[in-house]
Amino acid sequence: MLNSVKLIELEIHGKCNRSCSFCCKRFDKYNTDEVMSDEVYLKIIKDLEQVKYSEMISFSRNNEVLLYTEELKRKVNIIKDRLPNATLVASTNGDYLSKDALKDLNLDKLVIKDYDCMGREKCYNILYELGVDIVQVYDTYIEGKLNNMQIIYIVDFTKNELLEVKNDKSTDDYSDINSNNCTKPIEYIGIDLNGNVSPCCQIHTDNQLHQVFILGNVKDNNLDHIFNSSKAVGFRNYANIDNKKAFPCNNCSSKLNYYKYSHSGIKFKKNIKY
Ligand code: SF4
Ligand code: SF4
Repeated sequence: MLNSVKLIELEIHGKCNRSCSFCCKRFDKYNTDEVMSDEVYLKIIKDLEQVKYSEMISFSRNNEVLLYTEELKRKVNIIKDRLPNATLVASTNGDYLSKDALKDLNLDKLVIKDYDCMGREKCYNILYELGVDIVQVYDTYIEGKLNNMQIIYIVDFTKNELLEVKNDKSTDDYSDINSNNCTKPIEYIGIDLNGNVSPCCQIHTDNQLHQVFILGNVKDNNLDHIFNSSKAVGFRNYANIDNKKAFPCNNCSSKLNYYKYSHSGIKFKKNIKY
């Protein structure tokens, strides 16, 4: 079962218009127009229906979701009908926000990240122009609502959310401070656009060094089986032991609480034994 999983990230397409210094898109991600095929997408939904998945599903996995707004809306509507208890979320850099982009977008939650640190007033005005009802203004974010969709605008994102910025993950070595367990692979599944299943947000199909950590492909196997395979259990055990120094966890910025909060708003629990 997928009982421990709180977040599944789907790479519904592989493109972003930006190249942020803190994003793996910059150094090990393809930037492709390719979208996740319906064959892969519908197979994922079928597998999730079987276990009545009711936690969070994100459409953001190192891509800019609003680059292909109609495809996003179509895919959201399919999953909304078939997994009515799941919470559907996405995050955006805000570059393609418009009334048209948000019209009929049936997400439960959209997170907008102020990567350019424009400040609260500018972010507030953008929401106002989009017709968003402002619910509350906080120090670091603005909460709004548009129809049934909650909107969170994270103000001054790189000041408020990032603890540090690392430019080149291939040469950074965090092993001297890498002593905490990582429970992300217990609570998270990432699925790349080709159907490959990744155990954490740091492992990507297109990085040759990561190939060995891919757990399987939804076209070949059931997602539940993949998540509970000996390979997946082995990776979780590996990530969850103290003082490991080996790749990929020794290079991982995520494990160091790179972000103060997770992208989609859930806080990963610490020190859970699987
Ligand atoms: S906007 Fe988001 S997905 Fe795009 S490069 Fe920046 S952090 Fe990565
Ligand atoms: S430490 Fe990083 S690379 Fe290792 S499992 Fe956790 S998120 Fe993945």
